Amino acid sequence: MYRTHTCGELRLADAGKEVTLAGWVQRVRDKGSLMWIDLRDRYGITQLLLDENSDPKLVEQARSFGREYVIQAKGTVIERESKNPKVPTGDIELRVKEFTLLNSSKTPPFTIEDVSDGGDDLRMKYRYLDIRRNPVRQNLELRHRMAMLVRNYLSNLNFLEIETPMLIKSTPEGARDFVVPSRMNPGEFYALPQSPQQYKQLLMVAGMDRYFQIVRCFRDEDLRADRQPEFTQIDCEMSFVEQEDVLNTFEGLAKHLFKEMKGLEFDQFPRMTWQDAMKYYGSDKPDIRFGMKFVELNDVVKGKGFGLFDNADLVVGINAEGCSEYTRKQLDQLTEFVKRPQVGAGGMVYVKYNTDGTFKSSVDKFYTPDDLKVIADKFGAKPGDLMLILCGEAMKTRVQLNALRLEMGNQLGLRNPDVYAPLWVIDFPLLEWDEETQRYYAMHHPFTAPKPEDEALLDDPTKWGDIRANAYDIVMNGVEVGGGSIRIHDRTLQNKMFHTLGFTDEKAQEQFGFLMGAFEYGAPPHAGLAFGFDRLCSLFGGADSIRDFIAFPKNNAGRDVMSGSPAPIAQEQLDELQIKLDLKI
Ligand code: ASP
Repeated sequence: MYRTHTCGELRLADAGKEVTLAGWVQRVRDKGSLMWIDLRDRYGITQLLLDENSDPKLVEQARSFGREYVIQAKGTVIERESKNPKVPTGDIELRVKEFTLLNSSKTPPFTIEDVSDGGDDLRMKYRYLDIRRNPVRQNLELRHRMAMLVRNYLSNLNFLEIETPMLIKSTPEGARDFVVPSRMNPGEFYALPQSPQQYKQLLMVAGMDRYFQIVRCFRDEDLRADRQPEFTQIDCEMSFVEQEDVLNTFEGLAKHLFKEMKGLEFDQFPRMTWQDAMKYYGSDKPDIRFGMKFVELNDVVKGKGFGLFDNADLVVGINAEGCSEYTRKQLDQLTEFVKRPQVGAGGMVYVKYNTDGTFKSSVDKFYTPDDLKVIADKFGAKPGDLMLILCGEAMKTRVQLNALRLEMGNQLGLRNPDVYAPLWVIDFPLLEWDEETQRYYAMHHPFTAPKPEDEALLDDPTKWGDIRANAYDIVMNGVEVGGGSIRIHDRTLQNKMFHTLGFTDEKAQEQFGFLMGAFEYGAPPHAGLAFGFDRLCSLFGGADSIRDFIAFPKNNAGRDVMSGSPAPIAQEQLDELQIKLDLKI
């Protein structure tokens, strides 16, 4: 038997027991006549003791152990003289009678401590050592707990977890597919699923009624910060439901997770239309942990001779409460912030509502104190507040102001990671115009149903941009953690949708024929959604990066620096696949 107990298990009540532990040497402290070894495994750390009564051979053996050696220790559990209340095993130690060296170890390239001296790249290269560290291990434990909660919750609601294929057909909509060549079918390729979307809809046609899967998805996108080419979704689909049923079901799941993981209870999650989200927050995923809602000012700022405002499509601002004492320097920094290329504003106007009731603004030349008071009233501002205003083309300006709002939220400490503000954003537009290809794309995906009351607009191409979808996102703290829609289950409507997206009948048949065909055999009304599981874990773990919650993530260039993938393959493999490389770089 390698061990009788784990390294996190022994307590004072075990004193006197003869036990065997096995684990990694975390640290050796050698005080001559006394020697301590911290022995670590996944469950904790137990202190091993050698003292003046110990066999000198044993002491000599212990002196040969380096960091991360794998050893087995037999001995007696004793009460510690100086207890350590910070560790669960801190009341006891193990007086060792026998060691067995199970394996030696090279000196690790960084310290296996909570705060390591290893940089990001090094820790990723030796991820198996990184995972030995508490913070990383705890993240994986959190992920496991979340997955179990999700499975049990959904299973109790009659959802079946059903696996769908990983080698599927490539579809041109959505992101770029990762493709896999087929040796048996030369010149043909599988794609890795971006999501099991079509399969889960087929499962509804198949009468499975309620499906879920914690499933890997693949998207070959240019990697933005904190995106992974492979990531995990909690993918769900239900039959005979309306939007309300879907929102309630998955709000229930989210509440269950909050309760079990965080001990938090919520009333009904607020809901906001996409229109309002854009109008009041300049984002389809507003962080509603704090206010600073946008205030539109066109009716109170125009016509006073300030050309920039007079000519702007939209003048819109936020009120930073209690910030009227911001210094020149701070205001300059905010102006610099909005002018950065990532934000892209031309400049920023400020209006200070001083505590003495007077005003100071960057546009005093054009606006009298009375004018500024009217503006302040529009904001509902009080003495002591600071109003920050941007102007320009409406949508662009809103997006810029969103960046400024979030920045102010950060500066004022209003984005506390321990506070959770979930929100449903509903009524997304069905279609999105793409300038580059001069066509509409499905904002969610081509199977998303328009709102029934907007369906007629599909017949009028000038109105396509106005059609609302029965599509929804679940947002937490400004992060989109999930989204889904009511699906089209009627073949005629689906055909119409494909035409709208510029598909010919043949093209639609070629790409989606199998789904369309299935819809002719009694497809039930159905709907669903998918949560980004990695993102959900990072949110519950209070961390920004999803990488921390993935055992073996890729780096920002999409590489696994540990295994060295992606990598070239052997000429024989290429020959077998009948693939000739013609690399341009
Ligand atoms: N398949 C969708 C996605 O990956 C989610 C859904 O509509 O259920 O975003």
